[in-house]
Amino acid sequence: MGLSTRLLSFAKSMYKKYQNHVGRKIVHVESPHYNPEALVGYCKKYKPKCFCITPVNYEFLNSEYSAGMNRDQLAQFLKKLYPRMKEAGADLQLHVHVSWLPALVSKEKKRVMIEDAVRFFRNELGIVPSEIIFGWFAWDTEMEIISKDLGLKVVKWSPYIYDRWCEELL
Ligand SMILES: [Zn+2]
Repeated sequence: MGLSTRLLSFAKSMYKKYQNHVGRKIVHVESPHYNPEALVGYCKKYKPKCFCITPVNYEFLNSEYSAGMNRDQLAQFLKKLYPRMKEAGADLQLHVHVSWLPALVSKEKKRVMIEDAVRFFRNELGIVPSEIIFGWFAWDTEMEIISKDLGLKVVKWSPYIYDRWCEELL
């Protein structure tokens, strides 16, 4: 490993340690297939607010986290898992990855994606979400207006952890 690689991995592990320490109440759920049991256990223990990925992002899950599920399979999986997390004491809200660069995405596509996530929560889980965190904390005015129309507050950055870290914190 070169020096820059080692520095980067050191910085990453320090960042994770810091987040694990101060960010336990907020979880970004975007690879729930890694260890769903740890995730449910974590919800039981910490009663966090979980910002949850929905089937609209199945391609993201496949490319980033090798989920290997089509949209329908992911929907079926989440329909079983998310109610268990809620039952365990988590507050479930939305996490949607639109784009690193929102300016390059049409307003129509933004609306379709955010509405899709809300519809999944309402129709499939019976949950009316009130908050949303956008992937990479990348959003623009259009997305803020669309969210507001749908009754969603856009949540800004504060310390959080990823769902795939949960097993280490049980
Ligand atoms: Zn994310």
